[in-house]
Formats: sequence, C-alpha cells, structure tokens
Amino acid sequence: MKPRLIIIGGGFAGLWATAAARARGGGDLDVTLVTASPEMTIRPRLYEADVNATLVPLERIVTGLGARLRIGTVTALDVDGSITLGADRMSSDALVLAAGSTSPMPPVAGLAEHGHRIDTAERAALLRHALARRMPGTVLRVTVVGGGLTGVELATELASEPGVVVTLVDAGRIGDGFGPDGEAVVRAALAELGVRTVEHARLQSVEAASATTEHGPIGHDLLVWCGGLRASPLTALVPGPRDELGRLHVDAELRVEGVAGMWAAGDVARATADGVHVAPMSCQFAIPTGRVAGHNAAAYLTSGQAMPFEVDRYVTCVDLGAAGALFTTGWERTVRKTGAEGKAMKRHINHVLIHPPASPEDFLSSVAAGAAVRIQ
Ligand SMILES: Cc1cc2nc3c(=O)[nH]c(=O)nc-3n(C[C@H](O)[C@H](O)[C@H](O)COP(=O)(O)OP(=O)(O)OC[C@H]3O[C@@H](n4cnc5c(N)ncnc54)[C@H](O)[C@@H]3O)c2cc1C
Repeated sequence: MKPRLIIIGGGFAGLWATAAARARGGGDLDVTLVTASPEMTIRPRLYEADVNATLVPLERIVTGLGARLRIGTVTALDVDGSITLGADRMSSDALVLAAGSTSPMPPVAGLAEHGHRIDTAERAALLRHALARRMPGTVLRVTVVGGGLTGVELATELASEPGVVVTLVDAGRIGDGFGPDGEAVVRAALAELGVRTVEHARLQSVEAASATTEHGPIGHDLLVWCGGLRASPLTALVPGPRDELGRLHVDAELRVEGVAGMWAAGDVARATADGVHVAPMSCQFAIPTGRVAGHNAAAYLTSGQAMPFEVDRYVTCVDLGAAGALFTTGWERTVRKTGAEGKAMKRHINHVLIHPPASPEDFLSSVAAGAAVRIQ
C-alpha cells in the first residue's frame, strides 16, 4: 500500500499543499484533500457584491492534480494521523493541517443575534441578502466594527454603493496598522467616501437598530463584525504550543512542534517568514506555507529532501472602494501605489495572482519550480 497523506482544508494552503505533495510524491503517494465544501473561497474578495464570483469548484482541480477529494467536516484528529468526519474515520501516515480561520464574535450582548460577518462565503452571502432587502430609494445605515484590513475594505466598498451610509467603529485608532503614510491614504479615502469613524470605542451591546459603545449609541440598519481572524478550532485538538490567535507553532520546515508526522500551513500555522517576522494570516503566506508543508510531508513519506519555509518579501494591498486602493511593500509598509493604480494591482492580485492556476500541469509545474506569489 502506498503511504497515505491527508490534507485538511481546501483553501489556499490546503490546495497548494495538495499540488506540492503530488509534485513531490508523484505516483508513490496516496494524497487526499479533505474539506468542508466542494468549492474553494477566494476569501479576500468577500467584501465584493458578487459572492458567487469568489467560489472556485475543487473537484476538477484536485482530481486533475491526481489527488482524491473528500467533502466533509473534520470533527476530530489524532497525532497518530487519523481523522474523524461525522461517523467516518480515516487513517493516514502523515497529516497537513490547513483548516484556515474564522472571525469569531466576542460575547457582546446581542452581537451574535444581530451582527453579520464576511469571513466565509455563506456569511458574506447572508449580508448581501440583507443589503438587498432594502426598499428602493431608501438610505441604509451600516455599522462596520473593526478598522483593520477587512473592516476598511468592507466600509469603503459599501460606502461606494448608492444609498449606503457607513459608520466604521474601532476599539483603537483606525488605520494605524497600515504604516504612517498608508494610514493617511486610508483616512483620506474614508473621508472622501463619507464614512463616519468612531475610534477608541469598544462595542458594549448590539440591538436590532443600534449598537452601544462607551461613546454612546450608534443607529444602524445592519451591523457587521470585522474584529479579526482566529485559527480553526481544530488547532485546539493538537497538543503543543499555540499563539494568541490559536495558531500552532511550527519549525522552519512547518512541522508542528512536538507532533511527529504533522505539518501546518496557512492561517493555522505560526510560521516565521524571514527568520524575524511572523507571517500574518494572509493568502500571501497561506500559498507558500501550503506549498512547503505539502512538499515536506510528501518528502517525509517518500524519503526525500525537506525544504525550509522562507519568504523575503511582504506586501499589502487594501481596496478602498471608489477611492482606489493602497499598495505597500516591505514590513515597514512603504506606499507604492494608490488610487486607480493601486486598484489595478488589487484586481490583479485577487483575480490572477492568488487564483489556482488554470490547468493541473501549470499548477504542478509552478509548485515544482518553487514559484510563490511574486508581487512587485
Ligand atoms: C474578508 C476577508 C478579506 C481578506 N483579505 C485579504 C487580503 O486582502 N489579502 C490577504 O492576503 N489575505 C486576506 N484575507 C485573509 C485570507 O483570506 C486568509 O489568510 C487565507 O484564506 C488563509 O488561507 P488558508 O488556506 O489558511 O485558509 P482558508 O482559506 O480559510 O481555507 C480553509 C479551508 O479549510 C476548510 N475547513 C475549515 N475547517 C474544516 C474542518 N473542520 N473540516 C474540513 N474542512 C475545514 C474550509 O472550508 C476552507 O476551505 C482576508 C480574509 C477575509 C475573511
């Protein structure tokens, strides 16, 4: 029997891990991608109006890569390499955990009942349905809570749509994660689009038509929680250290610390990008960590050479709706492009660079050649 590799999670990390494992292991390895949904979600596009456009069917890609696809939600996993899917149990000789992240809501009164989220395609679609229920000709008030990348992108997108008035609320200072020059670009865009900002305001309670912070009530028709991502709860089932976002500590080859035969990639892994900086939860790092974890798990099972994970560049690209986009490079976030130029870059990233390659041959050769997402 061939050695069996199971990869959990059909997002960026899991799909690139599947391609890399097939590229490394060839016909000597039995690779199965287990994932909750038959479609991959291009999550960075979930602030857009057309949620269906963010979905990429997996069957053709995965079988084209020579791997099996198993649809189901993993409810348990063991350090012996076995996983549980409902009533079924599957065994493996090695596991790659790539189950991604969600945006859990804190225990704020009324938030779970009245708040929306856009961390999954299903939830983003629910928000879009709620937005579409608006009576024609009326103004809709949306409060977005969380002024990080997701909150800013959603706030500026909605404020660019006709008849939507947006308030952006943050417990700290909005835009301070974008670097000093980037912050100015973000603030100018929010002002240009008429987004009202409420800063240093912690959400205390949410009702159907208003939310309360220490600065008082804010009226809304819809409220969206964009308070940050946390690693999949599956990480809690793995022994070993985790960081404050629930990510598993991994070594330079993305092996889960203290667990033999298990690798982690994407939003579930606390990986060091360049020996200094911890890779943020992002597609930019999910893709190369997936590639390295898949390669290394396959190398382990076929007595091959492991490779270290190292990415020496870092970029950010924040969509700012009708005000364009902000593109920065380096960990210090030097502003390179704004406005229409930034927007063209954002579109290229979201529609081309982070999209799975069109053919299995292209996918296999890109991972074999070590091509990560290279954004200049
Ligand atoms: C609104 C939004 C905007 C974003 N914008 C950007 C951006 O501009 N740039 C950027 O780089 N990043 C952005 N991100 C972050 C980026 O989307 C994530 O970092 C990236 O998706 C992580 O990839 P992943 O493969 O680790 O996880 P995911 O893409 O989340 O994939 C995880 C997969 O695992 C599956 N899964 C989860 N649990 C189970 C289970 N128990 N059993 C089986 N399958 C399971 C899920 O269904 C999913 O298919 C954004 C995220 C959001 C939500």
